[in-house]
Amino acid sequence: MKTGSMLYEGKAKKMYATDDPAVLLVDYKNSLTAFNAQKKAEMEGKGRLNNLISSRLFEYLNKKGIPTHFIERIDETRQLVKKVNIIPVEVVTRNITTGTLCRRLGVEEGMILPSPLVEYYLKSDELGDPLILEDHAILFNWSTREELDKIREITLKVNQLLKEYFEKLDVILVDFKLEFGKDPEGNLLLSDEISPDTCRFWDRSSGEKLDKDRFRKDLGNVLGAYQEIWSRITSKGE
Ligand code: ADP
Ligand code: UDP
Repeated sequence: MKTGSMLYEGKAKKMYATDDPAVLLVDYKNSLTAFNAQKKAEMEGKGRLNNLISSRLFEYLNKKGIPTHFIERIDETRQLVKKVNIIPVEVVTRNITTGTLCRRLGVEEGMILPSPLVEYYLKSDELGDPLILEDHAILFNWSTREELDKIREITLKVNQLLKEYFEKLDVILVDFKLEFGKDPEGNLLLSDEISPDTCRFWDRSSGEKLDKDRFRKDLGNVLGAYQEIWSRITSKGE
């Protein structure tokens, strides 16, 4: 597969065309950003770990029948995916209360929710990804009722599968963000990445944070936490 021109450079990844118009090459960067890119850093080795972790999780989800964009990992920092039109809605699922949920609603940190909470945010750097209702997405044509029903169904399945996966690694899946897109045939595919940049992971016994919160909150050893997730995946995961 030949690498073509760079189509897009985002905060965490570069997307390249390939000789197949239906396939993109994704190159994971070492940049870390938080608070809508107001806080930035470079971290040698981060791109590699996120590529390894995300590839492995997408392989697992593909195997479990979740329709995803992921094709294959080609080396340490790069993977091939099916090109989609991204639906501009970020889907956040929460099992435990923390982060913006607590800040926005004043609810206690660390509450185990009786059932998963699914929230939608408009994907917009300019607006700082505001929280939206399903009705906003439908009325402004960002998605359709049918798509959102399907997205919610797939998201809840992914939550169940990832929760089980990480339980085996003694890791609690606190919350995470998903993106969905549509291929040229109109199929809805889980897209983007699943990594410590986009999930909150807590060590089951110590409660230690093993994700980007270490960067957001200046807790130190960010790369060590990402490495710990990858080590547990390779030693105990599928
Ligand atoms: P951001 O755009 O938020 O800075 P990234 O650095 O992760 O994020 O850039 C990757 C971009 O590629 C995102 O905008 C994401 O929505 C998009 N993307 C992810 N998967 C696909 C795909 N399969 N096809 C097309 N675009 C994708
Ligand atoms: N998240 C993400 N990208 C975003 C916003 C959130 O990947 O643009 C993830 C975040 O890592 C966490 C979950 O979604 O796992 C919920 O994040 P929250 O709304 O608490 O916001 P944050 O504290 O990340 O600003």
